Amino acid sequence: MSTDSYHSALPTTSIMASEENHNTFDVRRIRADFPILQRTVKGKPLVYLDNAATTQKPTAVIDALTAYYTGCNANIHRGIHTLADEATAAFEATREAARRFIGAASTEEIIFTRGTTESINLVAASWGREHIREGDEIILSTLEHHSNIVPWQMVAEERGARIRVVPVDEDGAFQYEAFLKLLSTRTRIVSIVHVSNALGVVQPIEDIIRAAHGVGALVLVDGAQSAVHLDIDVQRLDCDFFACAAHKIYGPTGVGILYAKHSILSTMAPYQGGGEMIREVRFTGTTYNDPPFRFEAGTPNIADVVAFRAAIEYVEAIGKPVIRAHEEALLAQVSERVLKIPGVRILGDIPGRIGVLSFTVDGVHPQDIGILLDNQGVAVRTGHHCTQPLMHRFGIAGTTRASLALYNTSEEMDFFATSLEKVVRMLS
Ligand code: PMP
Repeated sequence: MSTDSYHSALPTTSIMASEENHNTFDVRRIRADFPILQRTVKGKPLVYLDNAATTQKPTAVIDALTAYYTGCNANIHRGIHTLADEATAAFEATREAARRFIGAASTEEIIFTRGTTESINLVAASWGREHIREGDEIILSTLEHHSNIVPWQMVAEERGARIRVVPVDEDGAFQYEAFLKLLSTRTRIVSIVHVSNALGVVQPIEDIIRAAHGVGALVLVDGAQSAVHLDIDVQRLDCDFFACAAHKIYGPTGVGILYAKHSILSTMAPYQGGGEMIREVRFTGTTYNDPPFRFEAGTPNIADVVAFRAAIEYVEAIGKPVIRAHEEALLAQVSERVLKIPGVRILGDIPGRIGVLSFTVDGVHPQDIGILLDNQGVAVRTGHHCTQPLMHRFGIAGTTRASLALYNTSEEMDFFATSLEKVVRMLS
């Protein structure tokens, strides 16, 4: 198969293929792109509301994986044979798609990792170890996912630095004034979640970045949840690092992106050593490759990276504003009904919340709700959502979280709300 024939064999989305669908949103057609939505759970149609944990994958992504393994598979970058060339071109085509997707200036600023967690660990271990010293401060917020807490705790402990935490109010709103008070010339980095996975609240990230830069601190944006919902332009944001993952953007698991400004990346030490990240290896010493390859030691997750491009193109073809409007309408619909259930409290119930309905019910354990909803085919997540400090702030062990995606429907919102009403009546 020539390069051309492999690339022409790559699937495109049904949406891209349809001109008439441009800028319109037909959820039934969208659902037809996601084979898993046809399955049943416990004899009931699947209602998948765990999209903040991971999204389902369209046929375009699944087919891209199959096409890669059936028509192309080879190791990348080092080979001179045709398959190696084609695989390298497909891998690098995703880097270009990812660059475009988040608005980076250059593909040299896009590093492939295993996921958001590894992207953050890379920054903490490489940039953090070099730049964080005794007495320095790292600013996080109460909203952070454990993967944006623990890597910083590790480097802070090693270096004798201090972690400062921006509080949230009773509604889960980021306390911007308190953040400004925490900022000082001791602040080395501010690492903040863009959209909270536990609550769906959106942080004033532009203001945060501007203020942090004002004291000479860098900013990492944890975009695990925002990349799928919001238009991201890292150049406009002027963030120093942006981390996200394919599996929450309708792409495969095991692929993450770390964006970093080239000026920072070019001075950063490698994260892991091995093949690919070197220029020359001698027993007397090794010189390193340029970014992004310096940070991609060993054989990467080639097939999943290649298939990630299909996910990016799928989302781009529909358009995030269209998807967001659909999800906002669903969230408003379901929130209104759930709020009427006796004993329900929605957390993070502030304007602009995205894609997430996180709630507690007086006297009812979230896990019991989750199990009974699963009996109805409804998949929600219950527990601390890897945000134990946030749950601690609210004095609760966890919440029940329904999180939305482009393929969810108004009928599903009604079914979920009705099922929840019944479940709460049974358990109260
Ligand atoms: N940060 C946030 C806000 C998340 O929602 C998640 C995933 N739940 C992560 C980080 C970790 O992401 P990954 O699964 O890509 O490692």
